[in-house]
Amino acid sequence: MVIGTIADTLGRGIEGVTSTVAESFLDPVIRLGVTGLSRAGKTVFITALVANLLDRGRMPGLAAAQSGRIQAAFLQPQPDDTVPRFEFETHLAALTGPAPFWPESTRQVSELRLSLRVQPTGLLSGLSGPRTVHLDIVDYPGEWLLDLAVLDQSYDQWAADALAQAKTRPGGAGYLACLAGLDPAARLQEPRAQALAKAYTEYLTTARAAGFSDYTPGRFLLPGELEGSPVLTFAPLPPSAAPRGSLAREFARRYEAYKSQVVKPFFRNHFARLDRQIVLVDALGAIHSGPPAVEDLRRTMAHILGAFRPGRNRFLTALMGRRIDRILFAATKADHLHHSQHPKLTAIMDALVRDARDRADFAGAQTRAMAIAALRATVEETRTHDGAEVDLVRGTLLEGGKQAAFYPGDLPEDPKALLVPARQGDATWLDADFDVMRFAPARLALKPGEGPPHIRLDSAADFLLGDKLR
Ligand code: GDP
Repeated sequence: MVIGTIADTLGRGIEGVTSTVAESFLDPVIRLGVTGLSRAGKTVFITALVANLLDRGRMPGLAAAQSGRIQAAFLQPQPDDTVPRFEFETHLAALTGPAPFWPESTRQVSELRLSLRVQPTGLLSGLSGPRTVHLDIVDYPGEWLLDLAVLDQSYDQWAADALAQAKTRPGGAGYLACLAGLDPAARLQEPRAQALAKAYTEYLTTARAAGFSDYTPGRFLLPGELEGSPVLTFAPLPPSAAPRGSLAREFARRYEAYKSQVVKPFFRNHFARLDRQIVLVDALGAIHSGPPAVEDLRRTMAHILGAFRPGRNRFLTALMGRRIDRILFAATKADHLHHSQHPKLTAIMDALVRDARDRADFAGAQTRAMAIAALRATVEETRTHDGAEVDLVRGTLLEGGKQAAFYPGDLPEDPKALLVPARQGDATWLDADFDVMRFAPARLALKPGEGPPHIRLDSAADFLLGDKLR
Protein backbone atom coordinates (compact mmCIF):
# COMPACT_ATOMS: atom_id res chain seq x y z
CA MET A 1 0.00 0.00 0.00
CA VAL A 2 2.76 2.36 1.04
CA ILE A 3 4.82 1.42 -2.01
CA GLY A 4 1.80 2.01 -4.15
CA THR A 5 1.34 5.47 -2.75
CA ILE A 6 5.00 6.40 -3.20
CA ALA A 7 5.06 5.13 -6.76
CA ASP A 8 1.92 7.03 -7.51
CA THR A 9 3.27 10.26 -6.07
CA LEU A 10 6.48 9.88 -8.01
CA GLY A 11 4.60 9.27 -11.22
CA ARG A 12 2.45 12.32 -10.77
CA GLY A 13 5.47 14.40 -9.77
CA ILE A 14 7.25 13.66 -13.00
CA GLU A 15 4.04 14.26 -14.84
CA GLY A 16 3.80 17.72 -13.35
CA VAL A 17 7.24 18.59 -14.67
CA THR A 18 6.98 17.21 -18.17
CA SER A 19 3.45 18.03 -19.13
CA THR A 20 0.58 20.29 -18.32
CA VAL A 21 -1.94 17.60 -19.17
CA ALA A 22 -3.33 15.94 -16.06
CA GLU A 23 -3.30 12.17 -15.82
CA SER A 24 -1.56 11.56 -19.13
CA PHE A 25 1.63 10.05 -17.78
CA LEU A 26 0.38 6.50 -17.40
CA ASP A 27 -2.35 6.49 -20.00
CA PRO A 28 -1.65 4.91 -23.38
CA VAL A 29 -1.05 7.39 -26.20
CA ILE A 30 -1.48 6.69 -29.92
CA ARG A 31 0.26 9.19 -32.20
CA LEU A 32 -1.49 9.11 -35.56
CA GLY A 33 0.20 10.87 -38.48
CA VAL A 34 -2.07 12.20 -41.22
CA THR A 35 -0.29 13.08 -44.42
CA GLY A 36 -0.73 13.35 -48.17
CA LEU A 37 0.13 15.81 -50.89
CA SER A 38 -1.44 19.24 -50.98
CA ARG A 39 -5.25 19.04 -51.38
CA ALA A 40 -5.33 15.28 -50.87
CA GLY A 41 -7.91 15.86 -48.11
CA LYS A 42 -5.99 15.94 -44.80
CA THR A 43 -7.89 18.82 -43.21
CA VAL A 44 -11.29 17.40 -44.12
CA PHE A 45 -10.22 13.93 -42.97
CA ILE A 46 -9.08 15.02 -39.51
CA THR A 47 -12.12 17.22 -38.98
CA ALA A 48 -14.53 14.46 -40.01
CA LEU A 49 -12.68 11.77 -38.04
CA VAL A 50 -12.69 13.76 -34.82
CA ALA A 51 -16.35 14.80 -35.27
CA ASN A 52 -17.29 11.14 -35.83
CA LEU A 53 -15.30 9.99 -32.80
CA LEU A 54 -16.99 12.59 -30.63
CA ASP A 55 -20.44 11.56 -31.95
CA ARG A 56 -20.17 7.92 -32.92
CA GLY A 57 -23.61 7.23 -34.42
CA ARG A 58 -22.17 6.73 -37.90
CA MET A 59 -19.21 4.55 -36.91
CA PRO A 60 -20.54 0.96 -36.96
CA GLY A 61 -17.32 -0.25 -38.62
CA LEU A 62 -15.25 0.83 -35.61
CA ALA A 63 -15.79 -2.19 -33.36
CA ALA A 64 -15.07 -0.33 -30.12
CA ALA A 65 -17.73 2.27 -30.99
CA GLN A 66 -20.29 -0.26 -32.20
CA SER A 67 -20.00 -2.37 -29.04
CA GLY A 68 -20.28 0.66 -26.79
CA ARG A 69 -16.79 0.12 -25.35
CA ILE A 70 -15.94 3.74 -26.12
CA GLN A 71 -17.92 5.36 -23.36
CA ALA A 72 -16.88 8.96 -23.94
CA ALA A 73 -14.63 11.08 -26.15
CA PHE A 74 -13.40 14.56 -25.41
CA LEU A 75 -10.84 17.05 -26.69
CA GLN A 76 -7.95 17.87 -24.39
CA PRO A 77 -4.93 20.17 -24.46
CA GLN A 78 -2.26 18.62 -26.66
CA PRO A 79 1.06 17.46 -25.16
CA ASP A 80 3.34 19.60 -27.38
CA ASP A 81 3.13 23.25 -26.38
CA THR A 82 5.03 24.65 -29.36
CA VAL A 83 3.12 22.93 -32.18
CA PRO A 84 0.11 24.83 -33.59
CA ARG A 85 -3.20 23.27 -32.62
CA PHE A 86 -5.29 21.80 -35.47
CA GLU A 87 -8.18 24.24 -35.78
CA PHE A 88 -10.87 21.62 -35.37
CA GLU A 89 -13.72 23.88 -34.25
CA THR A 90 -13.17 26.39 -37.08
CA HIS A 91 -12.99 23.62 -39.70
CA LEU A 92 -16.04 21.81 -38.34
CA ALA A 93 -18.03 25.03 -38.31
CA ALA A 94 -17.10 25.53 -41.99
CA LEU A 95 -18.27 22.03 -42.95
CA THR A 96 -21.44 21.87 -40.88
CA GLY A 97 -22.71 25.47 -40.82
CA PRO A 98 -25.92 26.63 -42.53
CA ALA A 99 -23.96 27.51 -45.71
CA PRO A 100 -21.21 24.87 -45.61
CA PHE A 101 -17.86 25.43 -47.30
CA TRP A 102 -14.55 23.55 -47.51
CA PRO A 103 -12.09 24.60 -44.82
CA GLU A 104 -8.60 25.99 -45.40
CA SER A 105 -6.09 23.29 -46.32
CA THR A 106 -3.05 22.10 -44.41
CA ARG A 107 -0.05 24.44 -44.74
CA GLN A 108 2.12 23.27 -41.87
CA VAL A 109 2.31 20.75 -39.06
CA SER A 110 -0.45 20.88 -36.45
CA GLU A 111 -1.72 18.67 -33.68
CA LEU A 112 -4.88 17.76 -31.81
CA ARG A 113 -5.47 15.48 -28.80
CA LEU A 114 -8.69 13.52 -28.52
CA SER A 115 -9.06 11.35 -25.44
CA LEU A 116 -11.28 8.27 -25.39
CA ARG A 117 -12.65 6.60 -22.28
CA VAL A 118 -12.68 2.90 -23.09
CA GLN A 119 -14.03 -0.10 -21.18
CA PRO A 120 -11.43 -2.88 -21.49
CA THR A 121 -12.38 -6.31 -22.85
CA GLY A 122 -11.00 -9.77 -22.09
CA LEU A 123 -9.67 -10.89 -18.72
CA LEU A 124 -9.54 -7.44 -17.22
CA SER A 125 -12.97 -6.35 -18.31
CA GLY A 126 -14.80 -7.31 -15.12
CA LEU A 127 -11.98 -6.25 -12.81
CA SER A 128 -11.00 -2.79 -13.90
CA GLY A 129 -12.96 0.29 -14.73
CA PRO A 130 -12.66 2.24 -17.96
CA ARG A 131 -9.23 3.56 -18.97
CA THR A 132 -8.31 6.61 -20.98
CA VAL A 133 -6.56 6.31 -24.35
CA HIS A 134 -5.17 9.52 -25.86
CA LEU A 135 -5.19 9.93 -29.61
CA ASP A 136 -2.69 12.58 -30.74
CA ILE A 137 -3.38 13.42 -34.36
CA VAL A 138 -0.45 15.02 -36.19
CA ASP A 139 -1.26 16.70 -39.51
CA TYR A 140 1.68 17.44 -41.84
CA PRO A 141 2.22 18.04 -45.57
CA GLY A 142 3.34 14.96 -47.53
CA GLU A 143 5.64 17.25 -49.51
CA TRP A 144 7.86 17.47 -46.43
CA LEU A 145 8.58 13.74 -46.61
CA LEU A 146 10.13 14.24 -50.05
CA ASP A 147 12.91 16.13 -48.30
CA LEU A 148 14.27 12.89 -46.94
CA ALA A 149 15.97 12.49 -50.32
CA VAL A 150 17.96 15.73 -49.94
CA LEU A 151 19.55 14.56 -46.69
CA ASP A 152 21.75 12.21 -48.71
CA GLN A 153 22.63 14.77 -51.38
CA SER A 154 25.23 17.52 -51.49
CA TYR A 155 24.17 20.90 -52.85
CA ASP A 156 25.86 20.17 -56.21
CA GLN A 157 24.14 16.79 -56.56
CA TRP A 158 20.77 18.23 -55.66
CA ALA A 159 21.23 21.22 -57.99
CA ALA A 160 22.21 18.96 -60.90
CA ASP A 161 19.03 16.86 -60.42
CA ALA A 162 16.82 19.91 -59.95
CA LEU A 163 18.16 21.61 -63.10
CA ALA A 164 17.72 18.41 -65.15
CA GLN A 165 14.10 18.22 -63.96
CA ALA A 166 13.51 21.89 -64.81
CA LYS A 167 14.46 21.17 -68.43
CA THR A 168 11.50 18.82 -68.85
CA ARG A 169 8.78 20.34 -66.68
CA PRO A 170 6.24 23.13 -67.28
CA GLY A 171 7.59 26.46 -66.05
CA GLY A 172 11.18 25.18 -65.95
CA ALA A 173 12.26 27.22 -68.97
CA GLY A 174 11.40 30.42 -67.08
CA TYR A 175 13.77 29.56 -64.25
CA LEU A 176 16.54 28.38 -66.58
CA ALA A 177 16.26 31.68 -68.46
CA CYS A 178 17.04 33.51 -65.19
CA LEU A 179 20.31 31.59 -65.00
CA ALA A 180 21.48 32.69 -68.43
CA GLY A 181 24.37 35.13 -68.05
CA LEU A 182 24.48 34.60 -64.27
CA ASP A 183 27.90 34.14 -62.69
CA PRO A 184 27.57 31.77 -59.69
CA ALA A 185 31.00 32.96 -58.51
CA ALA A 186 29.88 36.61 -58.31
CA ARG A 187 29.61 38.15 -54.87
CA LEU A 188 26.36 37.40 -53.05
CA GLN A 189 23.76 40.14 -53.31
CA GLU A 190 20.65 39.43 -51.32
CA PRO A 191 18.14 40.88 -53.85
CA ARG A 192 19.61 38.59 -56.52
CA ALA A 193 19.38 35.59 -54.17
CA GLN A 194 15.75 36.45 -53.43
CA ALA A 195 14.91 36.88 -57.12
CA LEU A 196 16.37 33.46 -57.93
CA ALA A 197 14.54 31.74 -55.06
CA LYS A 198 11.33 33.45 -56.19
CA ALA A 199 11.81 32.37 -59.81
CA TYR A 200 12.52 28.80 -58.69
CA THR A 201 9.39 28.79 -56.49
CA GLU A 202 7.32 30.15 -59.40
CA TYR A 203 8.54 27.31 -61.59
CA LEU A 204 7.61 24.74 -58.89
CA THR A 205 4.17 26.34 -58.58
CA THR A 206 3.61 26.07 -62.35
CA ALA A 207 4.83 22.47 -62.41
CA ARG A 208 2.56 21.56 -59.53
CA ALA A 209 -0.45 23.18 -61.19
CA ALA A 210 0.31 20.97 -64.19
CA GLY A 211 0.14 17.90 -61.96
CA PHE A 212 3.80 17.39 -60.94
CA SER A 213 4.29 16.85 -57.23
CA ASP A 214 7.67 15.14 -57.07
CA TYR A 215 9.95 18.06 -56.25
CA THR A 216 12.37 19.34 -53.59
CA PRO A 217 12.80 21.27 -51.35
CA GLY A 218 9.41 20.30 -49.95
CA ARG A 219 9.05 23.59 -48.05
CA PHE A 220 9.29 25.91 -51.03
CA LEU A 221 5.57 25.67 -51.76
CA LEU A 222 4.50 25.11 -48.14
CA PRO A 223 6.93 27.26 -46.15
CA GLY A 224 4.80 27.65 -43.01
CA GLU A 225 6.39 30.15 -40.66
CA LEU A 226 9.70 30.02 -42.57
CA GLU A 227 8.43 32.07 -45.50
CA GLY A 228 10.99 34.67 -46.57
CA SER A 229 13.73 33.37 -44.24
CA PRO A 230 17.31 32.85 -45.55
CA VAL A 231 16.99 29.10 -45.03
CA LEU A 232 14.43 29.08 -47.88
CA THR A 233 16.23 31.68 -49.99
CA PHE A 234 18.33 29.53 -52.28
CA ALA A 235 17.93 27.80 -55.64
CA PRO A 236 19.83 25.34 -57.82
CA LEU A 237 22.83 26.75 -59.73
CA PRO A 238 25.12 25.04 -62.24
CA PRO A 239 28.38 23.67 -60.76
CA SER A 240 31.20 26.17 -60.28
CA ALA A 241 34.41 26.61 -58.30
CA ALA A 242 33.00 29.61 -56.49
CA PRO A 243 35.00 31.47 -53.81
CA ARG A 244 33.81 32.28 -50.30
CA GLY A 245 31.23 35.03 -50.16
CA SER A 246 29.91 34.14 -53.62
CA LEU A 247 26.29 33.45 -54.53
CA ALA A 248 26.97 29.75 -55.15
CA ARG A 249 28.83 29.23 -51.86
CA GLU A 250 26.08 30.96 -49.91
CA PHE A 251 23.39 28.89 -51.63
CA ALA A 252 25.30 25.72 -50.76
CA ARG A 253 25.55 26.90 -47.14
CA ARG A 254 21.83 27.71 -46.95
CA TYR A 255 21.00 24.34 -48.49
CA GLU A 256 22.99 22.64 -45.70
CA ALA A 257 21.23 24.85 -43.13
CA TYR A 258 17.89 23.82 -44.64
CA LYS A 259 18.85 20.18 -44.13
CA SER A 260 20.06 20.55 -40.56
CA GLN A 261 17.65 23.21 -39.27
CA VAL A 262 14.45 22.43 -41.13
CA VAL A 263 14.41 18.88 -42.48
CA LYS A 264 16.10 17.02 -39.63
CA PRO A 265 14.10 18.69 -36.82
CA PHE A 266 10.85 17.84 -38.60
CA PHE A 267 11.78 14.16 -38.81
CA ARG A 268 13.11 14.12 -35.27
CA ASN A 269 10.34 16.06 -33.52
CA HIS A 270 7.33 14.85 -35.44
CA PHE A 271 7.82 11.96 -37.81
CA ALA A 272 9.95 9.73 -35.60
CA ARG A 273 7.36 9.85 -32.81
CA LEU A 274 4.44 8.45 -34.82
CA ASP A 275 2.85 5.05 -34.10
CA ARG A 276 0.32 4.91 -36.90
CA GLN A 277 0.05 6.65 -40.25
CA ILE A 278 -2.60 7.36 -42.84
CA VAL A 279 -1.44 8.53 -46.27
CA LEU A 280 -4.23 10.24 -48.20
CA VAL A 281 -4.10 10.23 -51.97
CA ASP A 282 -6.26 12.09 -54.48
CA ALA A 283 -6.04 9.28 -57.01
CA LEU A 284 -9.22 10.37 -58.80
CA GLY A 285 -7.78 13.84 -59.33
CA ALA A 286 -4.63 12.39 -60.90
CA ILE A 287 -6.62 10.02 -63.13
CA HIS A 288 -8.69 12.98 -64.29
CA SER A 289 -5.51 14.97 -65.10
CA GLY A 290 -4.20 12.16 -67.32
CA PRO A 291 -1.39 9.59 -67.60
CA PRO A 292 1.55 11.96 -66.82
CA ALA A 293 -0.12 12.98 -63.52
CA VAL A 294 -0.73 9.32 -62.61
CA GLU A 295 2.90 8.43 -63.32
CA ASP A 296 4.08 11.43 -61.30
CA LEU A 297 1.80 10.40 -58.44
CA ARG A 298 3.17 6.84 -58.52
CA ARG A 299 6.75 8.13 -58.41
CA THR A 300 6.00 10.66 -55.69
CA MET A 301 4.28 7.97 -53.61
CA ALA A 302 7.34 5.75 -53.95
CA HIS A 303 9.51 8.61 -52.65
CA ILE A 304 7.13 9.45 -49.82
CA LEU A 305 6.90 5.82 -48.81
CA GLY A 306 10.68 5.67 -48.62
CA ALA A 307 10.31 7.56 -45.35
CA PHE A 308 8.43 4.59 -43.90
CA ARG A 309 11.34 2.27 -44.56
CA PRO A 310 13.85 3.62 -42.07
CA GLY A 311 16.62 1.22 -43.12
CA ARG A 312 16.93 3.20 -46.32
CA ASN A 313 18.35 6.30 -44.66
CA ARG A 314 21.09 6.43 -42.04
CA PHE A 315 19.83 9.53 -40.29
CA LEU A 316 16.31 8.14 -40.05
CA THR A 317 17.45 4.69 -38.91
CA ALA A 318 19.27 6.23 -35.97
CA LEU A 319 16.22 8.30 -35.15
CA MET A 320 13.45 5.75 -35.25
CA GLY A 321 13.28 4.54 -31.66
CA ARG A 322 9.69 3.49 -32.13
CA ARG A 323 8.26 2.34 -35.36
CA ILE A 324 5.10 2.96 -37.28
CA ASP A 325 3.35 -0.41 -37.21
CA ARG A 326 0.24 0.31 -39.29
CA ILE A 327 0.00 2.36 -42.46
CA LEU A 328 -3.25 2.98 -44.31
CA PHE A 329 -3.20 4.24 -47.91
CA ALA A 330 -6.54 5.87 -48.58
CA ALA A 331 -7.86 7.11 -51.92
CA THR A 332 -9.94 10.10 -50.87
CA LYS A 333 -13.08 11.75 -52.26
CA ALA A 334 -14.68 8.38 -53.13
CA ASP A 335 -18.07 10.14 -52.95
CA HIS A 336 -17.35 11.24 -56.55
CA LEU A 337 -18.06 7.62 -57.50
CA HIS A 338 -21.10 5.39 -57.12
CA HIS A 339 -20.29 2.63 -54.63
CA SER A 340 -20.30 0.07 -57.44
CA GLN A 341 -16.94 1.55 -58.50
CA HIS A 342 -15.30 1.75 -55.07
CA PRO A 343 -13.57 -1.68 -55.30
CA LYS A 344 -11.93 -0.51 -58.53
CA LEU A 345 -10.63 2.65 -56.85
CA THR A 346 -9.25 0.56 -53.98
CA ALA A 347 -7.49 -1.71 -56.49
CA ILE A 348 -5.92 1.34 -58.19
CA MET A 349 -4.76 2.70 -54.82
CA ASP A 350 -3.28 -0.67 -53.99
CA ALA A 351 -1.46 -0.86 -57.32
CA LEU A 352 -0.11 2.69 -56.93
CA VAL A 353 1.74 1.81 -53.74
CA ARG A 354 2.48 -1.84 -54.55
CA ASP A 355 5.82 -1.05 -56.14
CA ALA A 356 7.11 0.55 -52.99
CA ARG A 357 5.49 -2.14 -50.87
CA ASP A 358 6.99 -5.02 -52.83
CA ARG A 359 10.52 -3.73 -52.44
CA ALA A 360 10.27 -3.76 -48.66
CA ASP A 361 7.33 -4.58 -46.48
CA PHE A 362 7.75 -1.38 -44.46
CA ALA A 363 9.79 -3.18 -41.80
CA GLY A 364 6.91 -5.42 -40.85
CA ALA A 365 4.25 -2.72 -40.62
CA GLN A 366 0.75 -3.80 -41.53
CA THR A 367 -0.50 -1.91 -44.56
CA ARG A 368 -3.86 -1.62 -46.26
CA ALA A 369 -5.42 0.29 -49.17
CA MET A 370 -8.94 1.70 -49.01
CA ALA A 371 -11.27 4.08 -50.84
CA ILE A 372 -12.87 6.61 -48.49
CA ALA A 373 -14.71 9.90 -48.37
CA ALA A 374 -14.11 11.79 -45.15
CA LEU A 375 -17.14 13.96 -45.86
CA ARG A 376 -19.78 12.66 -48.18
CA ALA A 377 -20.92 15.53 -50.41
CA THR A 378 -23.10 13.47 -52.78
CA VAL A 379 -25.99 11.01 -52.87
CA GLU A 380 -26.25 8.07 -55.27
CA GLU A 381 -28.69 7.72 -58.10
CA THR A 382 -29.30 5.19 -60.87
CA ARG A 383 -30.80 6.40 -64.13
CA THR A 384 -31.71 4.76 -67.40
CA HIS A 385 -29.86 6.22 -70.36
CA ASP A 386 -30.34 4.81 -73.88
CA GLY A 387 -31.93 1.71 -72.36
CA ALA A 388 -28.97 1.04 -70.02
CA GLU A 389 -28.77 1.68 -66.29
CA VAL A 390 -26.15 4.24 -65.31
CA ASP A 391 -24.88 4.68 -61.73
CA LEU A 392 -24.49 8.37 -60.87
CA VAL A 393 -23.80 10.63 -57.93
CA ARG A 394 -25.66 13.87 -57.30
CA GLY A 395 -24.47 16.92 -55.41
CA THR A 396 -24.27 20.70 -55.30
CA LEU A 397 -21.65 22.15 -57.65
CA LEU A 398 -19.01 24.28 -55.99
CA GLU A 399 -19.15 26.82 -58.79
CA GLY A 400 -22.65 28.20 -59.25
CA GLY A 401 -24.28 26.20 -56.44
CA LYS A 402 -26.56 24.20 -58.78
CA GLN A 403 -27.52 20.58 -58.18
CA ALA A 404 -26.07 18.19 -60.74
CA ALA A 405 -25.97 14.46 -61.41
CA PHE A 406 -22.55 13.30 -62.46
CA TYR A 407 -21.01 10.28 -64.15
CA PRO A 408 -17.23 10.33 -63.76
CA GLY A 409 -16.44 7.56 -66.27
CA ASP A 410 -15.90 3.86 -65.78
CA LEU A 411 -12.72 2.97 -63.92
CA PRO A 412 -11.05 -0.16 -65.29
CA GLU A 413 -11.31 -3.49 -63.44
CA ASP A 414 -7.57 -3.95 -63.84
CA PRO A 415 -5.47 -1.01 -62.58
CA LYS A 416 -2.81 -1.87 -65.18
CA ALA A 417 -5.11 -0.32 -67.78
CA LEU A 418 -4.17 3.01 -66.18
CA LEU A 419 -0.71 2.40 -64.76
CA VAL A 420 0.84 0.89 -67.90
CA PRO A 421 0.00 3.80 -70.26
CA ALA A 422 1.12 6.17 -67.48
CA ARG A 423 4.49 4.44 -67.25
CA GLN A 424 4.86 4.34 -71.01
CA GLY A 425 4.59 8.12 -71.08
CA ASP A 426 1.26 8.38 -72.92
CA ALA A 427 -0.10 11.90 -73.02
CA THR A 428 -3.82 11.03 -72.83
CA TRP A 429 -6.00 8.03 -72.03
CA LEU A 430 -6.63 6.11 -75.22
CA ASP A 431 -10.21 4.96 -74.91
CA ALA A 432 -11.59 6.52 -71.77
CA ASP A 433 -12.40 9.83 -70.22
CA PHE A 434 -12.41 10.46 -66.48
CA ASP A 435 -14.05 13.52 -65.14
CA VAL A 436 -13.99 15.19 -61.77
CA MET A 437 -16.52 17.68 -60.55
CA ARG A 438 -16.00 19.88 -57.54
CA PHE A 439 -18.93 19.51 -55.21
CA ALA A 440 -19.68 21.78 -52.28
CA PRO A 441 -20.20 20.14 -48.91
CA ALA A 442 -23.89 19.27 -48.50
CA ARG A 443 -26.04 21.08 -45.96
CA LEU A 444 -26.47 18.72 -43.01
CA ALA A 445 -29.25 18.09 -40.52
CA LEU A 446 -27.49 15.91 -37.95
CA LYS A 447 -29.42 13.99 -35.31
CA PRO A 448 -28.02 14.01 -31.76
CA GLY A 449 -25.14 11.54 -31.46
CA GLU A 450 -24.48 11.51 -35.22
CA GLY A 451 -21.30 12.79 -36.86
CA PRO A 452 -21.16 14.08 -40.46
CA PRO A 453 -21.77 11.50 -43.24
CA HIS A 454 -18.74 9.72 -44.70
CA ILE A 455 -17.67 6.63 -46.61
CA ARG A 456 -15.61 4.02 -44.71
CA LEU A 457 -14.17 6.49 -42.20
CA ASP A 458 -15.19 3.94 -39.56
CA SER A 459 -13.28 1.10 -41.26
CA ALA A 460 -10.26 3.39 -41.62
CA ALA A 461 -10.42 4.23 -37.89
CA ASP A 462 -10.82 0.56 -37.01
CA PHE A 463 -7.69 -0.38 -38.96
CA LEU A 464 -5.67 2.52 -37.52
CA LEU A 465 -6.82 2.40 -33.89
CA GLY A 466 -9.07 -0.60 -33.29
CA ASP A 467 -6.46 -2.88 -31.65
CA LYS A 468 -5.57 -0.16 -29.13
CA LEU A 469 -9.16 0.26 -28.02
CA ARG A 470 -9.67 -3.30 -26.79
P1 GDP B 1 -5.29 19.14 -47.60
O1 GDP B 1 -4.49 20.08 -48.44
O2 GDP B 1 -4.73 17.75 -47.68
O3 GDP B 1 -5.51 19.61 -46.19
O4 GDP B 1 -6.72 19.02 -48.31
P2 GDP B 1 -8.19 19.44 -47.79
O5 GDP B 1 -8.62 18.56 -46.67
O6 GDP B 1 -8.24 20.90 -47.56
O7 GDP B 1 -9.04 19.03 -49.07
C1 GDP B 1 -8.83 19.68 -50.32
C2 GDP B 1 -10.12 19.73 -51.09
O8 GDP B 1 -10.51 18.41 -51.49
C3 GDP B 1 -11.31 20.26 -50.30
O9 GDP B 1 -11.36 21.67 -50.31
C4 GDP B 1 -12.49 19.62 -51.01
O10 GDP B 1 -12.78 20.35 -52.19
C5 GDP B 1 -11.93 18.28 -51.45
N1 GDP B 1 -12.26 17.18 -50.51
C6 GDP B 1 -11.54 16.75 -49.44
N2 GDP B 1 -12.16 15.70 -48.85
C7 GDP B 1 -13.28 15.45 -49.56
C8 GDP B 1 -14.34 14.47 -49.47
O11 GDP B 1 -14.36 13.58 -48.58
N3 GDP B 1 -15.32 14.54 -50.42
C9 GDP B 1 -15.32 15.48 -51.41
N4 GDP B 1 -16.31 15.48 -52.29
N5 GDP B 1 -14.34 16.40 -51.53
C10 GDP B 1 -13.35 16.39 -50.62
